[in-house]
Amino acid sequence: MQIISDIKKTSSLCQKWRDKGESISFVPTMGCLHAGHLSLIKKAQSLADHVVVSIFVNPLQFDNADDLLKYPVTLDEDTLKLADFNVDLVFTPKANAFYPDGENQVKQIDLGSITVLLEGAQRPGHFAGVATVVKHLFEIIRPNVAVFGEKDFQQLMVIKQLVETFPLDVEIIGMPTFREQDGLAMSSRNLRLSENERKKAPAIYQQLKSIKSAINASTNIDTADFVELERRACENLTAVGFVPDYVAIRETDTLSIPENHNNSLVILVAVKLGQIRLIDNIRV
Ligand code: AMP
Repeated sequence: MQIISDIKKTSSLCQKWRDKGESISFVPTMGCLHAGHLSLIKKAQSLADHVVVSIFVNPLQFDNADDLLKYPVTLDEDTLKLADFNVDLVFTPKANAFYPDGENQVKQIDLGSITVLLEGAQRPGHFAGVATVVKHLFEIIRPNVAVFGEKDFQQLMVIKQLVETFPLDVEIIGMPTFREQDGLAMSSRNLRLSENERKKAPAIYQQLKSIKSAINASTNIDTADFVELERRACENLTAVGFVPDYVAIRETDTLSIPENHNNSLVILVAVKLGQIRLIDNIRV
């Protein structure tokens, strides 16, 4: 396994593989790797001859300076985990090489309406930052396939939109959310929960499951019923100490507000628990 922070060396190693007709799968991460990330890497291994994992805490996608500052960085542990996983290349660029003119000078990508709903509304500029870094990473590595988690459901939609908008020629694969035994979606941010917060956190998934059961149990459900389910879930979460940003029942393909249950739905939630913001979702 090679660990390379240099952009030119990374792109020429990937080019060498491509010249030999060997395929590349790619898993972009911000590090602090957990079993959720590792499930994407396992999938990536089944898809191509070489696996590249990037570890880069991308400043452009943080709308909150404190969140960026406190984002856990565990590069040594991460590379140890990856060594067990037969990863060919760990790309660890430095922000000043990645954005040589400074982050503020980077022309960011605007992918339109999908980036301004839900997470986009709560975190202005977040998806422009994500799209910009992922496009740049794709241009350096030029993978055949890239694997992302459904944990970041809207992000996955943004990435699919990115590859439809630009000629990046990469197949995007989404993978299911990996959870702790108590249902909490794995996340690097879980490390920052206090003991008490960690005990409360599985309530997020419980609320998602309870909305899902209510939808599945109803016939003739309509927008007003969805709004009532969202409202009740927010109330339940607030009662046990969460500050919900949103609980939203949406159409899976467009994230638009459903009028009925004729199409597949997804329930998305974002909450603050103390200082930590957590997101999760479940398909119906
Ligand atoms: P991050 O390091 O948080 O930027 O995540 C890197 C990739 O891992 C993204 O595609 C995430 O959606 C995915 N990911 C994060 N948490 C999970 C999880 N619990 N299960 C599956 N994939 C995940």
